[in-house]
Amino acid sequence: MKASYTIRTAKGDRSLTPGSGYVLPHEHIICDLRARWSGQGDAHDLDAPGLPLGPETIDAVRHDSQGTVRENLMLSDWYVAAQELLEARRSGCGLLVDLTAHGLGAMPSLAVRAADAAGLDTVIAVGRYIVAALTPEERDLPSAALAEEWTKAAENGIDGCAVGVIGEIGLSVDMHEAERRSLQAAATTHGHTGLAVNVHIEPGHGLGTAHEALSLLESGGTDPAKIAISHIDYETDLNALIELARRGCYLEFDLFGRAFPPVSEPNRVDMITSLVDAGHGDRVLLSQDICMRHGLRRWGGPGYGHLAREIHPVLRDRLGAAGTELLISENPMRFLSLGQ
Ligand SMILES: [Zn+2]
Repeated sequence: MKASYTIRTAKGDRSLTPGSGYVLPHEHIICDLRARWSGQGDAHDLDAPGLPLGPETIDAVRHDSQGTVRENLMLSDWYVAAQELLEARRSGCGLLVDLTAHGLGAMPSLAVRAADAAGLDTVIAVGRYIVAALTPEERDLPSAALAEEWTKAAENGIDGCAVGVIGEIGLSVDMHEAERRSLQAAATTHGHTGLAVNVHIEPGHGLGTAHEALSLLESGGTDPAKIAISHIDYETDLNALIELARRGCYLEFDLFGRAFPPVSEPNRVDMITSLVDAGHGDRVLLSQDICMRHGLRRWGGPGYGHLAREIHPVLRDRLGAAGTELLISENPMRFLSLGQ
């Protein structure tokens, strides 16, 4: 175990020691997910007053989280966020990575305000989400222009916050040309800044896009040890996960708290322990990707403390205290660290 890792938090570089608190490497604090709206009408129409998220609508929302009430796709209240984040802090979380990229309504200073109020350190991201979240002009941007913009953001900060990671770089099931340009820009920005890259693949569609993304980033000079592939939770083929881990990137199980029959949370824990047994324990990341209101405790959701409450104890039983710390503390610190 390394003594400490230097990580660029929103407030500047910090030296963090594994075991000094767990890390949530993929969350959202202030976020607008309306690019994924699948219900009636335009995503950007406003819900009629009187049809908010509430006791009358929450069951329907749980059943169809992205097509019932637009309000469910908005994490827009910093004070509510602070209250919710407190559960992560109280369960031992020290650092939370907010991967709210362009296209997801990022408001870093508001996110940091919420995390601050809850006593949490935050890492802020630069990058852009899937093509559906971009305007036609944004889709057409050449990768060099994107890379220049992102490098500048990484060097100067965004909204008064230092930037500590590139992501989440959104990729659709069939990778769009604009998304390929996002990956090229991520590789160039990584080359200039050394910041790690987090890639979003659509969950439940296999790992083909992950391999393609890895190859593109590697051909742009990115070390696989600085790449994390998000949302791999629903992969049921252990050998496919081992094949991906062998390429040297991080495998992020970050949809804990969400049901996706038939892949239950115990299935995911089995998959993780199998990866550890196969020698890839140093490449596993765990998070919850809270990005909708029904994921919050106040709406009966799992909340930011779900992993600590439900999953960490199971991992400690199966992997021991040190084996668990590797997954929840050292791995994300090593992934995010600067200059290594
Ligand atoms: Zn994502």
